[in-house]
Amino acid sequence: MNILLATSNNHKREEFARILKTHVIFLPSELGLTFDFEESGETFTENALGKALSLLPNIPEGYAILADDSGLCVEALGGDPGVRTARYGMEEAGHLLEAGERNAYLLKNLEHCTTKEERKATFVCALALVVDQYRVYTISESVVGSITKEPDGHAGFGYDPVFYVDEASSTMAALSEEDKDRYSHRGRATRLLNTVLGEI
Ligand code: IMP
Repeated sequence: MNILLATSNNHKREEFARILKTHVIFLPSELGLTFDFEESGETFTENALGKALSLLPNIPEGYAILADDSGLCVEALGGDPGVRTARYGMEEAGHLLEAGERNAYLLKNLEHCTTKEERKATFVCALALVVDQYRVYTISESVVGSITKEPDGHAGFGYDPVFYVDEASSTMAALSEEDKDRYSHRGRATRLLNTVLGEI
């Protein structure tokens, strides 16, 4: 299937491409489309669906649209940054932070939490697949772990250096691509998506 991925994040594209091997993934820019969606939903699924549906009016024939909304929910922060994960720290800084700055901001906000239990966090990935107006599928998956006290590892992107995956006993950024796919929120959600794609 030809899949238009509603993102401008190349890292996400690479992760999807590794798992959705039998499908062809395009970014909006490659089809001459602009993608600019304001994430104003209160849930990851709402935002994922909003992203996918925003491209529906302009989709060429023969493409399905896939959107991902993901984020980090930290228990000690009452589930924040949650749906605001990409914009975390923005108010205080007055501008969108780079990944490294955002990670530093998160570590600073958790300084008072000393144990792994207190630093517990969940990474969530919501996917929305829109085949057409009347065929819409959503999936939400997650991985449980904790926020480390300092960054570790250089692979992946975003919060990967500070998110420790319990099951893998490693930060996400210190995992091989294969292991990130095995354990990550997106890997889990995308494998389920593969099952759905096999049925439609
Ligand atoms: P959005 O889904 O584009 O809104 O991105 C949510 C935020 O979470 C962004 O800051 C991403 O960098 C971050 N993020 C999403 N998925 C991952 C991941 O797999 N690893 C690390 N950071 C991620």
